[in-house]
Amino acid sequence: MAIQLFVPNFRVDECLAQIRECLEKGWTGLGFKTVEMENKWKEYTGLPYAHFLSSNTVGLHLALHMFKTEFGWADGDEVISTSLTFVSSNHAIVYTNLQPVFADVDEYLCLSPEDIERKITPRTRAVIFVGIGGNTGRYEEVLKLCRDRGLILILDAAHMAGTRLNGKHVGYDADCTVFSFQAVKNLATADSGMICFTDEARDVRARKLAWLGINKDTYARTAAQGAYKWMYDIEEVGYKYHGNSIMAGIGLVSLKYLDQDNAYRRQLAKWYRENLDGHEHIKVVPVASGCESSTHLIQIRVQNRDALMLALNEHQIYPGVHYRDNTEYCMYSYAQGSCPNSAKASQEILSLPMHMGLTKADVDLVSELIIRYTK
Ligand SMILES: *Cc1c(COP(=O)(O)O)cnc(C)c1O
Repeated sequence: MAIQLFVPNFRVDECLAQIRECLEKGWTGLGFKTVEMENKWKEYTGLPYAHFLSSNTVGLHLALHMFKTEFGWADGDEVISTSLTFVSSNHAIVYTNLQPVFADVDEYLCLSPEDIERKITPRTRAVIFVGIGGNTGRYEEVLKLCRDRGLILILDAAHMAGTRLNGKHVGYDADCTVFSFQAVKNLATADSGMICFTDEARDVRARKLAWLGINKDTYARTAAQGAYKWMYDIEEVGYKYHGNSIMAGIGLVSLKYLDQDNAYRRQLAKWYRENLDGHEHIKVVPVASGCESSTHLIQIRVQNRDALMLALNEHQIYPGVHYRDNTEYCMYSYAQGSCPNSAKASQEILSLPMHMGLTKADVDLVSELIIRYTK
């Protein structure tokens, strides 16, 4: 039997019951389950605000658009980001006509505060911190740096559903935190995400801008009077970025099992570490202290990554790579050479199979083959 990197574990009957409820009620869009998902997410995370979106990618764009217009940033102003991420994090900066400037990663594969500091210029406005694999890295130092230097901090928490730092769910202290509930993330739907501000006015604005800019307060007021539902106002141009009730229904089921699933992910990671720690040519990427990681990923670093990948594939084991250094892509190649650690990691990292269907025997087999084929 093949061992895949990710296999989503949908509780099918519970998901179908949620979807059936939407269909029978005749309500599949914004509202109903999306509101329930937002409430359950706030309850689960302890975050004060949450708005359910169609993806994390649109959430990152929305966040940058909102900060840019709120503070009057100019086109070409700079946002410091990592090149070791899914391109969404960096495309969002480009969508907003801002300039991605890459800072290097540290041993956690997260942004290094020292390199962020080196990359700050008079045009720097914000930092996007990506918690790779659910790891918090040196987030707290990055937060402090942003506060000291007057920079907006956006947390790309696409891998961080259920990650806690010093006992608290992440997201309460960044200016904006964006989660992903995409099909293979550790809280899976098919495509959706959550944008969480710490400021009420921004949450209110995000809700309008995720629905074309439609002023829903006016809508709600007139709807309550039973007529004039079309008499809403639009103060500024918005986008069609909100999520829908079908996705939210699936998300509600995944959320119910999130802690249980993440605990099993941590168990799998522990087994991998017990097998692989201490081998001369294999380095398991460490988790920062104080971080209870969602463990969306477990990553190792080896010198013969591509050969190891092929050897494992021969045994029907299919690991992944998160991620290729984005400066290897044509459109970000202007920044090649600016982040040597990310460039090196890009050649060495391998994400090991991580999903609910794996057993200890699977982990032992994968580990044994990694040890056999690593040079
Ligand atoms: C998956 C991912 C995204 C994009 O999430 P979507 O919900 O698919 O838009 C952004 N950043 C990172 C680090 C991701 O892994």
